Amino acid sequence: MDFRQQTVVLLKPDTVKRGLVGEIISRFEKVGLKIIAMKMVWISPDLAKKHYPISREDWIESIGKRALETYKEYGRDPGEDLDSLDPKEIGKKMASWLVDFLTEGPLVAMLLEGGNAINTVRKMTGHTFGDRALPGTIRGDFSDERGYVGFVEKRSARNLVHASGNVEEAEFEKKLWFKENEIHQYKRVEDSL
Ligand code: UDP
Ligand code: MG
Repeated sequence: MDFRQQTVVLLKPDTVKRGLVGEIISRFEKVGLKIIAMKMVWISPDLAKKHYPISREDWIESIGKRALETYKEYGRDPGEDLDSLDPKEIGKKMASWLVDFLTEGPLVAMLLEGGNAINTVRKMTGHTFGDRALPGTIRGDFSDERGYVGFVEKRSARNLVHASGNVEEAEFEKKLWFKENEIHQYKRVEDSL
């Protein structure tokens, strides 16, 4: 069976501002993932809203529920930081913070290709929150932000990278971010061995 996959990675604006673009791209290159498209873009709120399925109520509710779970995990009272404890209301706020985050500066969008690429990149990226991500992962090595801090400061968790979560997300995001003529097929040295 051929496990060759393509996956979308965004180096979010915090990566660019912290000067970590090269460091992070280098990790993907060294592991053997092939960069088949790459560009720096300062995106519109419209594209940010398409990237995260902000119009889907079930998604909004699910991120709101996840926020409440996060509070439980940290043993912290959500009532202290959040204006509402309704998952839908929390989710709506999170969605607007995500749009602010992705549009606060330029980001680098990449399409990576390789065997089992989606899972490999997710593993390299690590847990959503820097303090929960294992050492050796991108988020674990370059962030120790606790999961609730974003809620306290009314912003998204600054976690450096986005990586497609599964095949459907990867296919949707590939079409959203790249035109066919921006994607390049070529051989890396090991492809010719
Ligand atoms: N996010 C957040 N707080 C949360 C959950 C998510 O700020 O409690 C932000 C964070 O930037 C994350 C993005 O929303 O990367 C998308 O969330 P998802 O659950 O898809 O996490 P990921 O797949 O990026 O780990
Ligand atoms: Mg995700």
